[in-house]
Amino acid sequence: MSQGNVRINMEKINKGILLDLHVHSNASDGQYTPSQLIEMASSAGLETLAITDHDTMSGLDEGMKRAEALGICFIPGIEISCQDKEEIHILGYGINRSSQELYDACNIWRLERENRGESMKQYFEILGIDIDLNKVKSYAGHGSLGRPHFARYLVEHGIVEDSKAAFDMYLDTPEFIIATDREKPSPFTAINLIHRAGGFAVLAHPGIYKNSDIGELVGRLVEVGLDGIECFYSRHTDTQKRQYIALMERYSLKTGCGSDYHGEAVKPNVRLGMEIDKIYRKDLITTLL
Ligand code: AMP
Ligand code: FE
Ligand code: FE
Ligand code: ZN
Repeated sequence: MSQGNVRINMEKINKGILLDLHVHSNASDGQYTPSQLIEMASSAGLETLAITDHDTMSGLDEGMKRAEALGICFIPGIEISCQDKEEIHILGYGINRSSQELYDACNIWRLERENRGESMKQYFEILGIDIDLNKVKSYAGHGSLGRPHFARYLVEHGIVEDSKAAFDMYLDTPEFIIATDREKPSPFTAINLIHRAGGFAVLAHPGIYKNSDIGELVGRLVEVGLDGIECFYSRHTDTQKRQYIALMERYSLKTGCGSDYHGEAVKPNVRLGMEIDKIYRKDLITTLL
């Protein structure tokens, strides 16, 4: 066998895996329906797709049905907002959609998100900005009400130029976060809920937390059963990736691999789908499912 042939074969063997284990549908703050996401994943040649909506499982049945029809490997997921030193997110994979306990928790979170909507309206009222809450809720439909729905309202009503400005000027300022805080579960509670629903728990996007020491955080979460870290995330730098892979190895964890796609209208710079090297296949959280 010539060197040339060997090289070509190795390229074939080492070709990356296309998948996305972190995607939002319109069951929370994503732009597209679960069916549309599955169709897009299928067209893009993705092997596996996990829908991970904020604090809800309500898009999973639809996603599962469409994935079965199109032959996509579908992972039922969730992304739970938790309170630690700051808000952190825990992803759940392979959760049982008929878990009554998780279903009840999602219902409570949905109500708390609606109440937070009232606090947000009041916050804007003090600033002299009138918000039609019914209009904001109409963007969310039956889905989890979130800050991106408020961002859309602010953009559509000419209060800010774009979604980034909405977050920079209002929705992601420390004053806003304090004034509109809501009850959130601890990471311990979230990890337990995910486990009792038959799933695995992964720390989402460690690279975006501003006030946490990730080594310390992961050490603490491992003590309460964390199964993985989302080392591969669309916005992680190579240095961050290496740091998280080292933590994964130190604690014998698995990894997530997700874009956090919400649709171009919500997050313009994030595309659907990730490619990771085959050498990491054994480390993917999906190998536990
Ligand atoms: P919520 O769960 O309602 O507090 O909203 C959180 C969502 O808002 C995240 O999942 C992102 O989609 C979006 N988000 C949070 N912070 C920012 C930011 N600074 N810029 C743009 N989007 C953001
Ligand atoms: Fe989101
Ligand atoms: Fe998140
Ligand atoms: Zn997300």
